[in-house]
Amino acid sequence: MNEAKLENEQKKDKFTKEVEEFIPSPHVSTDIYEIEATSGDLSLLSKYHYKFKEEYRATYVIRPGNTEELSKLMQKCYEYSLPMTLRAAGTSCYSSSTPTKGGVIIDLRRMNNVHNIDKENMIVKCDAGISWQKLMEALLEYGLAPKCYPTSYRASCVSGFVATSGKVGVGVLKNGLMKDVLRSVVFVKPDGSTETISRDSRGDLSLDDIIGSFGIFGAVAEVELEVTTLKTSLEMVGYSFNTFKMASEFFRMLKNNEASKPLFLSLSDKEFEKYAHWTYPSRGFFVYAVYSDNLSVTSQSVSFAKETASKLDGLSVEEWYLKEKWRDMADTELNVGRWCQNLIFQEYYISDNRVEDFYTFYIEKSGKKYRKAFYMMSGAKGGNRVKLFGLSDIKNSREFFGIKAVFNDITINNYENGDSLYTLGVVNTFYFLRFDPERAEYLRQLKNKIDPGDLVNDYRLVKAKMRTWRVGLLFWIAKRLYRTA
Ligand SMILES: Cc1cc2nc3c(=O)[nH]c(=O)nc-3n(C[C@H](O)[C@H](O)[C@H](O)COP(=O)(O)OP(=O)(O)OC[C@H]3O[C@@H](n4cnc5c(N)ncnc54)[C@H](O)[C@@H]3O)c2cc1C
Repeated sequence: MNEAKLENEQKKDKFTKEVEEFIPSPHVSTDIYEIEATSGDLSLLSKYHYKFKEEYRATYVIRPGNTEELSKLMQKCYEYSLPMTLRAAGTSCYSSSTPTKGGVIIDLRRMNNVHNIDKENMIVKCDAGISWQKLMEALLEYGLAPKCYPTSYRASCVSGFVATSGKVGVGVLKNGLMKDVLRSVVFVKPDGSTETISRDSRGDLSLDDIIGSFGIFGAVAEVELEVTTLKTSLEMVGYSFNTFKMASEFFRMLKNNEASKPLFLSLSDKEFEKYAHWTYPSRGFFVYAVYSDNLSVTSQSVSFAKETASKLDGLSVEEWYLKEKWRDMADTELNVGRWCQNLIFQEYYISDNRVEDFYTFYIEKSGKKYRKAFYMMSGAKGGNRVKLFGLSDIKNSREFFGIKAVFNDITINNYENGDSLYTLGVVNTFYFLRFDPERAEYLRQLKNKIDPGDLVNDYRLVKAKMRTWRVGLLFWIAKRLYRTA
């Protein structure tokens, strides 16, 4: 062993021993399989670009069990100048929780306790690494429920929704976004120092800075959230339409009905329904709404939907299908991936008034060449998350890059028309730097102040691994090759 290697090994042993003084040793792992399991995600790029590149691969995955352990761990990493990657369930994709500079993956899922449920004021305090499912079960005993959560709730954690953007999901349209329901966080900065940040805090970081930060300023350790009461009635409606125009008009009418907002609202094409479920409606487009309230309100909502659908020539879907959709909500997007070996997807944030233009451009660009699917979920008034899927064949790399080139064109068009991508992570950061330089500059200055050594969640929002011109050139070639394939 040469001298540098020996010194490295000794440093590694010393770090491990010191961390094991405050975190039980089974949770301080250097096992390559555990590191791999906590490095990738469902988007393929982390697999190709990050997971197998030596310099990106982490040396440790460490699981703190509470705020004190997290704080001591981050302090120790800071002392040793070890890069840190914060990771909850890893469902947000685009390499959001994938290491980019080696070091330590901090897996937050052991931090999963509920600290206090205040039924009277409808507030819950819990660890940030708790899964939505576990939180829901705890709240259920008190007749309460989260105000909003992502459809990935079975696996994903509360902190993942805070650190992405928490703008679209179940309950958002009816009860508000994460930004509206988050009252305070206990936050651990890169040097391990801990601070409680609430809506009226006046320190360097505000709650607004932390929401959607992709962890670049440090770790959310605990959260205080507003919750709501469990409602007595749950009703679902679903109508299929022959044209996108009719379906989107129906979607808009349900979304803007001030008398009763759906708990969940989506618009999908027939292909999405086909890949996501056992069976699917006969027409091209499908709008699905779930209402949760008292019986008289949900009954009125269902009547409103029925009346509106009949004016737009909507065809109702059988009740069992609606129930199945609700039951399988967390699996629908995952099921699409089971129909191919190389799933490609991109998520867009589309304003309400651009939905039809977006769809027209998408159809124009994607043509009929590859297997695809369209899925739109409503956010609060103003925006929606559209997820486009391309089901590509692993043996056909021209198709893979061709679809990515189509998504790239749609992304550029989307930004040029004032909209954006929904999830940035590592992979999509270069678009953000190009199209929202002012916001990026604000975040960069804040990052320099809080984390001058770039130790936590590097290469998200303020700095990109990819270069715009290289990606542009790659897609230019890909388009030509795909056209002639
Ligand atoms: C089937 C499916 C359905 C989905 N539905 C929705 C949806 O309805 N709405 C939606 O918005 N998204 C949705 N998503 C995307 C994703 O599930 C959400 O963004 C989710 O909130 C991510 O949570 P996570 O626990 O997996 O976080 P991760 O993916 O692990 O982390 C996300 C980001 O947050 C950072 N982070 C995590 N924990 C912390 C912390 N404690 N402190 C600081 N930074 C942290 C990570 O570093 C990473 O950058 C869906 C994904 C899938 C696969």
